[in-house]
Amino acid sequence: MITETSSSVNFEYSETQLHVAESARKFARQYIQPHIMEWDEAQTFPVEVFKRAGELGFMGVLVPQSLGGSGLGYHEYIAIIEEISKVDPSIGLSVAAHNSLCTNHILMFGNEQQKARWIPRLARAEWIGAWGLTEHNTGSDAGGMNTTARKDGEHWILNGAKNFITHGKSGDVSVVIARTGDKGDSRGMTAFVVETGTPGFSSGKKEDKLGMLPVKRPNLYSTIAASRMKTGSGPWAKVLFSL
Ligand SMILES: Cc1cc2nc3c(=O)[nH]c(=O)nc-3n(C[C@H](O)[C@H](O)[C@H](O)COP(=O)(O)OP(=O)(O)OC[C@H]3O[C@@H](n4cnc5c(N)ncnc54)[C@H](O)[C@@H]3O)c2cc1C
Repeated sequence: MITETSSSVNFEYSETQLHVAESARKFARQYIQPHIMEWDEAQTFPVEVFKRAGELGFMGVLVPQSLGGSGLGYHEYIAIIEEISKVDPSIGLSVAAHNSLCTNHILMFGNEQQKARWIPRLARAEWIGAWGLTEHNTGSDAGGMNTTARKDGEHWILNGAKNFITHGKSGDVSVVIARTGDKGDSRGMTAFVVETGTPGFSSGKKEDKLGMLPVKRPNLYSTIAASRMKTGSGPWAKVLFSL
């Protein structure tokens, strides 16, 4: 915990932070370290490790206890990611993508119904979460994305393809950013939640990669009926950078 006194800044960890870091260290050494080579060689996504992480509260770190999470703060969250990443950065990245990109986005911007449906399942790692922004040729330049969303009765129809999506193949629920306004309009993008299995949703072939195995690509979306999560009225950059 960083506390400021009149004369100095205290960088000591609190007891909770030390306890959380120790739990994450033990978890990584016991459940990840012995299997790294085996998973690497088999190009496998070890879903059971994420379920175990969910039991220990590492998959809903910032989620309030009332929604099934651990109700911890960012210091504890960083300690967890740090300890797991010391052993296997790809699992660290994976846990971070699930917590920050998917779960936190729904927690921060979803309505009460959406939170009730998705957050407790994500926090317990019953479901693994993904977040899809990047597209072929529109990585840094997200404003140029080609995936569109249009209203069709009660549903929204998404059309397009996303690339380099962590848990694109192994995820159960994805927050997907699509264009609802003109290309280049920073307010013309909207986040949708898509459950795997939604008609029209498919994930592409797994690419061979060095390290970072949970990142499967590409994840294809075509004609998906999705539940609208947030209108395009908020400033896009704020959504992106507050995660
Ligand atoms: C391990 C991993 C996991 C990922 N997981 C996800 C995920 O879960 N969800 C998701 O949506 N995406 C994910 N991505 C994609 C990631 O967000 C993109 O790779 C990133 O946005 C960069 O886009 P790009 O690869 O197309 O590179 P580019 O946009 O082509 O950029 C290439 C280089 O050019 C530089 N550059 C670009 N534009 C400019 C400019 N205007 N001025 C100066 N320099 C510039 C960049 O800084 C970079 O160095 C993941 C990527 C990796 C590697």
